[in-house]
Amino acid sequence: MFRKILDTTRKMISVAWVPLVVLMAGVGAQKLMLLSWNAVVDYHSPHYYESMPVSPRQPAISGQVVLVVVDGLRYDTAMGLPGLTRLRERGAGLRLATGEPSLSLPGWAVIGTGAWQEITGVTTNWYKGRIRVDSIFAEARRAGLLTAVAGAPEWEALYGPWISQERLVRNDDPAVLREALSLQAGKPDLLLIHFASVDKAGHEFGGASRQYYTAAREVDNLIGRLAASLDLRKTTLLITSDHGHRDAGGHGGWEESVTSVPLVALGKGIRPGWAGGGGQVDIAPTVAALLGTSLPRHAVGQPLYPVLDLSWANRVSLELAVAEQRAAFDSRYIQTLEGRGLPQNATAPLLARRAFQERDLRKAEMELKSFDELRETAVANARENRLKEDRLRRLPLVGGAFILASLYLFILYRHRYMGTAVSGALLYFAIYYAFYLARGYHFSLSDVNSEELMAAFFRQRLIEAGIAALLSGLVLAYRIGRKKDATAYILGKCAGGMVYIIAYLLLAQVLTFVYLYGIRFEWALPDLRLGFKYYLDLLQMFATGLSAPVVVLAAAVFGKAVWWAAGRRRRRRKRLAGARSGGTA
Ligand SMILES: [Zn+2]
Repeated sequence: MFRKILDTTRKMISVAWVPLVVLMAGVGAQKLMLLSWNAVVDYHSPHYYESMPVSPRQPAISGQVVLVVVDGLRYDTAMGLPGLTRLRERGAGLRLATGEPSLSLPGWAVIGTGAWQEITGVTTNWYKGRIRVDSIFAEARRAGLLTAVAGAPEWEALYGPWISQERLVRNDDPAVLREALSLQAGKPDLLLIHFASVDKAGHEFGGASRQYYTAAREVDNLIGRLAASLDLRKTTLLITSDHGHRDAGGHGGWEESVTSVPLVALGKGIRPGWAGGGGQVDIAPTVAALLGTSLPRHAVGQPLYPVLDLSWANRVSLELAVAEQRAAFDSRYIQTLEGRGLPQNATAPLLARRAFQERDLRKAEMELKSFDELRETAVANARENRLKEDRLRRLPLVGGAFILASLYLFILYRHRYMGTAVSGALLYFAIYYAFYLARGYHFSLSDVNSEELMAAFFRQRLIEAGIAALLSGLVLAYRIGRKKDATAYILGKCAGGMVYIIAYLLLAQVLTFVYLYGIRFEWALPDLRLGFKYYLDLLQMFATGLSAPVVVLAAAVFGKAVWWAAGRRRRRRKRLAGARSGGTA
């Protein structure tokens, strides 16, 4: 009797510890989830770099720059707008690529500074405080120029100290235009106008909807009225957007519909007819070149030379200023990554400067070109070396965790129902991804249409992962329950093996990401497509952990019921067979 109790207890413990370990792993995954979320939201850029040299000012190409930002206007829609098309035909139309996350505030930071998200540190719309890197607004003020903004209050939040005049309007585009036209009376040298309604329509109805196009048409009309009011012999008009929209609505991720934005440029200082491409970071250096200010000191873009109406000498002079600005920034950048600056021969484009002073423009250009190659290689090498170094440092921890988690698999491997447990785990992933893909999701921040829906989005993934685990547990119980020797012990052991394998496969994916990018992002943002998947994997681990005890218990109970029903059928069949054979005898 005592022996039997002891035996039962031993069996129960040997069944129960697996779901408990998976539960603990799930709780750990949840902690890691919060940590990695904060690591992106509160990403502290180490690239602010105080006291960098100011690049030499160039002769202004334009008397005024009016920069229009249409929130959420995607490239293809912009190309189809009649007003914008007319403006484009008088100037230049470009396709620019945004960075990630392709959200509004991060985009406004890129537009104003010429620096990507990992440099500005503005990674989400929750960013608080002033922008910490140099901007076209700051450089314009430094040059004694007037700056003005008409649009959403967040522009003030980012660039407040460097805006001379502002009219903050929320969600009323005709009012924005009225305010912009009244600001125009004060003759600001740099006027930024921000229209918000297109993005709103995108979120509500999707980027392929009629409502979205209608909203874009309305803004198109407003821009037409703005253009008509400007003297484009003195003023340059630039029209762009911060990001696009998915057909179904939403942005933030990597899709082309989201990361392709238009730039239409016309008026003073613009050479018409060019239709190339560039990056969103090129806008700020282009504005600086038009206004003749110093370049924003953290910019990694460059002026869009083909659209600028420049003499050869002025162009080379501008290229020289850009080279000097980049030399200063990249030197600090490489120092931050590797602890040492640019190689000696790349620190300053001295030879180019000398050739320029000797009026040998061809030679100056050649020197600039070779300097640029050197600088780019040095930056790429620094990034690669730092990544390698970081990964090597993480390898023992990641490898150790993986080996530890693999140990139980070797024990499990000898179990008779190992195959059933593995197919149960695979069924789990099939169910989870069937849910996921059926909703049209594809590992992108754009899957979440708006910040308010974020919590609901992740809750839904959590619930679906729980359902998938439970369903595959029940299928497994059904398969084993029909076997003659199915006991509660075998059922529990097998369901435990299944949740363990699910968690194990998730852990392997999580560890791969951690190996590649780490847990805290110190000097760069990770690949955000993988980052999004990483977050969902952690969420699944959490769900698997929470549901593990329930799944194991449910599998034991359900499997036993199946076994009992199957046994009754077996017995009845035997009895019938027995009666039949007895009759013929
Ligand atoms: Zn938006």
